[in-house]
This record gives sequence, structure tokens and C-alpha cells, in this order.
Amino acid sequence: MTDTNNSNPVLIIGAGIAGLWTALSMAPRPVTVITASRLGAGSSSWAQGGLAAAIGSGDSAAAHAEDTLSAGAGLCDAEAVRVLTEGGPAAVEALASAGVPFDRSASGDFTLGREAAHGTDRIVHVGGDAAGAAIMKTLTALAREADHIELIEGHVVERVLTKDRGVCGVMVWDRSGQRARNIAATHVILATGGLGGLFAVTTNPLSAQGHGIALAAEVGATLRDVEFVQFHPTGLDVGRDPAPLATEAIRGEGGQLVDAQGSRFMTRLHPSAELAPRDIVARGVAQAIAETGGAFLDVRNSIGAAFVERFPTVASAAQEAGIDPVAELIPVAPAAHYHMGGVRTDTWGRTDIDGLYAVGECASTGVHGANRLASNSLLEAIVFGTRIGGALQQDTLRDPAPMPERDEVLIHAPATELKPLRDLLSKELGMVRDAQGLEDTLQFIDDRPARSVGDRLAQRAARLLVRAALARQESRGAHQRRDHRDTERPARHSLIKACKTDMDWQEVSS
Ligand SMILES: Cc1cc2nc3c(=O)[nH]c(=O)nc-3n(C[C@H](O)[C@H](O)[C@H](O)COP(=O)(O)OP(=O)(O)OC[C@H]3O[C@@H](n4cnc5c(N)ncnc54)[C@H](O)[C@@H]3O)c2cc1C
Repeated sequence: MTDTNNSNPVLIIGAGIAGLWTALSMAPRPVTVITASRLGAGSSSWAQGGLAAAIGSGDSAAAHAEDTLSAGAGLCDAEAVRVLTEGGPAAVEALASAGVPFDRSASGDFTLGREAAHGTDRIVHVGGDAAGAAIMKTLTALAREADHIELIEGHVVERVLTKDRGVCGVMVWDRSGQRARNIAATHVILATGGLGGLFAVTTNPLSAQGHGIALAAEVGATLRDVEFVQFHPTGLDVGRDPAPLATEAIRGEGGQLVDAQGSRFMTRLHPSAELAPRDIVARGVAQAIAETGGAFLDVRNSIGAAFVERFPTVASAAQEAGIDPVAELIPVAPAAHYHMGGVRTDTWGRTDIDGLYAVGECASTGVHGANRLASNSLLEAIVFGTRIGGALQQDTLRDPAPMPERDEVLIHAPATELKPLRDLLSKELGMVRDAQGLEDTLQFIDDRPARSVGDRLAQRAARLLVRAALARQESRGAHQRRDHRDTERPARHSLIKACKTDMDWQEVSS
């Protein structure tokens, strides 16, 4: 193994919105971005609806915070939510100044969409339903031009290296060169995205396998609320893996959900009907499928012919599956979509390991609680990426400590034969869980020794998820237990240090 002395002691792992924005925010401090594939591959480019910010007339950060806290079902950190929502308007301005072409009215104002559980129109979007692609196109171009950013693409980070509880580098595998090397660092910022790819039915890229939480757990960082996975109610049920998404903004514009008998079921389940919090709509869709054999999005009367222009990404996914969304019902099913839990950080992205940071979906900043408010995640990446970048720009950095010798005994390859695990996670860690299913899943994982580094990371992430779900013996937000239906008072965070696989709990003050 070659040891490389790196001239940039700050490494960012991941090149989605969180990694690239943090890197751009650090200028002029030199920074290296390492990513497993090419820039922009990950969930960020697939984001449809947009980014939430209190910029509409009559809206306020306090109102945005109230909606965020309410969706989070008692587990949000109020200070982190304040930071997020107060940072919303500046985040939109910063992205617009960077060149993101947000949709605007004839008078030049941002046009704002509505999504579930937002009390008002608050979502800025691009090209109707293509916000992620437009943002990532802009950030990718800026990162490639930036003098202070070194880009290392096609390199998988296989381990974070520490000495005396402080970060000293990472071990990476160069996929095209087929060689391992260590890269020295004083600061490692995990921006590796979520874990939806571990589920058989997901809207995420299959590469989203929870590497960030696994890497952090291996060096003893505390993880928080890992059991909370959000299921999007309207993945398109058209036999594709991953499932294309029908953004919530469609329901914000009047799209309705009907069962296989054509009956509108959400009006029976919640006063906000199709715009109820995501977990409630997702369970409603699952129930309609179980009871009537199907659930469908109906935009025929509400949006009609404008659908193709207003939601081009969704329209073309439906058309590719042979469905005319203007004239026919669109079949939908809940799909694993977003990981609320993650590596615990403070509001500056710091974990409890010296020099280790987390940002974006792999982080648990405390803003999402038990259920993410729609379109708060792109915002979170920008707000907290700006803070981490700004803070490190000012910091005086020490020299990296010498790296320990670490050899990898497993083969350097992605996860092998993931399908059985993905099927099991969708079955047992879906919207309703119980102890038996969770125990069986844990046993299944423990019975299969990892053959590759990809197996090691994916299995560790899955094991963390199952252990946390087993330990939370209540139903709250996105975590519902058929054997523990009550919600406990007071709300408690689950904390896990996976090296020792011990669980701890922390009461939430609100
Ligand atoms: C279909 C879809 C629609 C969505 N719509 C919205 C929306 O409208 N609004 C909203 O706010 N949110 C939305 N989300 C959620 C949002 O897109 C994500 O939460 C966000 O983009 C995550 O950004 P990220 O930078 O943390 O991760 P990602 O964009 O997933 O990037 C992760 C990066 O880490 C790299 N990586 C992972 N592991 C390793 C490793 N071991 N070594 C090296 N590199 C690694 C990957 O290659 C990638 O570059 C949507 C998500 C999906 C899937």
C-alpha cells in the first residue's frame, strides 16, 4: 500500500450537493474532494421538488421551523432547526448567485410550490421538477473550475484512519487503477449520502448504501436515530429498480391518491388528505395496496394537460412505462427515500471524533427528527455545508499525525449479492416493523460473512439500522412498531456507538 502525504489536510468524502457545496464554501482554503464515482452521481442530481425556504410574502423562518418541528414528531433539535430555517433565504440567494436558474414569475420573483406538511407555498424549484439536476450541474461546473478544490473521482473511501481519537487520514481504493492507498488528513468531512439503496424498493441510486454511518461507526463516532427511514408515498410502481419518483409537488398542485376501486382514501385518513405528513400518506398508500390491490396518482382533472410541461421528469418516466399521465392513473407504491438518522453532529458539522465531520444526508444534525419535512434536505446540505466551509476556512490546521498501518483482508469490491438483504430490509424494516422480523434480519446479516469491503460497509450500515429499530420500542414518526404502538413521553434520541454496539438514550429538551 502506498502512503501519500497529502498537501491538503482537509478531505471531503462525497461529491453530491453536501460535499461540493462544503468544498466551494471553503475557498480559498485548499480542499480535496474524493468520490466513489464521478461528480454529481448520488441522490442530489435526482432531487425533483426543490428546496424549502421562507421567502414568500407572509412566510417566516419561525413558521418554517414550526412545520419542521411538527413533522419531526418530538425528535428535532430546536437550535438546529432554527439554524436551518433562518438560513433558508440566504441559501436560496447563494445558489441563485452561483447560477442555479430557479423558476421565476414574469416579475422576477421566485415561484414557490407547496409540499406536504408545509403550512404555505415555500419550495423553490427549477424546470418544474428538475431542481437536483440543475443545482448539481451548476455546482459541478464551479467545483471543476475552482482553484482551491482538488477532485479525486473513482476512489472509494474504505476506512477512516484515526490516532488517539483524532482523524489522521483515509484508506481509499482507486477503482480504475486497482490499487489501495492512504491519504493523510487532519479533517475528514463525510458527505456520503443516505442508505436507501439497501432496500429493494427505493427511489435512491443503488450506490446509496450507508457508507458514511458505517465508516463513522468504525472509528467510534456516535450515531443518532439511525432507525428513522422515510418512505416516499409515491414511488412509481412500474417495475423499475430504483423506482422513479413522483414528487410531492404534484399533490401540492392538486394531484389525488385513489385506490384500485377509484376511491380517494387520504380524505378518510387525515384532515390534510394528500398533503398530510409523509409517513401518514405512505402508510395510507400501503394500506390501499394491501386492501384493494393498488394505489394510483390521479392528475387528470387537477393538473391535466399541463402535467407534461409542469412535471417533465415524472411525465417521461410514466410515458416510458407506457402510461399516459394526462389520460390514465399512475400506479404508485411507497419506496425507501431518505435517512433521517446518521452521524451525530453539532450545528457546525462536528462529530465527537476530533477532525471528523458529517454533512448532508449521512449526518444527523437534528433538523429532521423522526420525519423529514419535504425539501428540507437540500436546504440542510447548503446551510450546514456553508457553516462547515466557513469555519474551516478560518481554522489554523495542524500537520496530519502519522497514519497507522492498516491492511485490508477483504477484496476491494462493491457489495456482492445484495438482493436478499435488500428484499429482507424492505420486508422487515419497511413502514411497520416488529421484534420478530427485526431479530430475523439481524440473524440473517450475522450469518453472512462479508466477502468484500462493499459487503462490510453495507452490512454494518444495515446492522446499525436493525439494532436501532429493535431498541426503539415505541411508534414515532417514520418508525412504527406493530408490537409497540404507543408513543413514549418524553421523546428520546437513540444513540449508538457501533464499535461496541451499545445503545444509549438521550432525552430531548424542547
Ligand atoms: C428521487 C429523489 C428525489 C428527491 N427530491 C428531493 C427534493 O425535492 N428536495 C430535497 O430537499 N431533497 C430531495 N431528495 C433528497 C436529497 O436529494 C438528498 O437528501 C440529498 O441530495 C443528499 O445529498 P448528499 O450530498 O448528502 O448525498 P448524495 O447526493 O447522495 O452524494 C453522496 C456522494 O457520496 C459518494 N460516496 C458514497 N460513499 C462513498 C465512499 N465510501 N467513498 C467515496 N465516495 C462515496 C457518492 O459517490 C456521492 O458522490 C430526493 C432524493 C431522491 C432520491
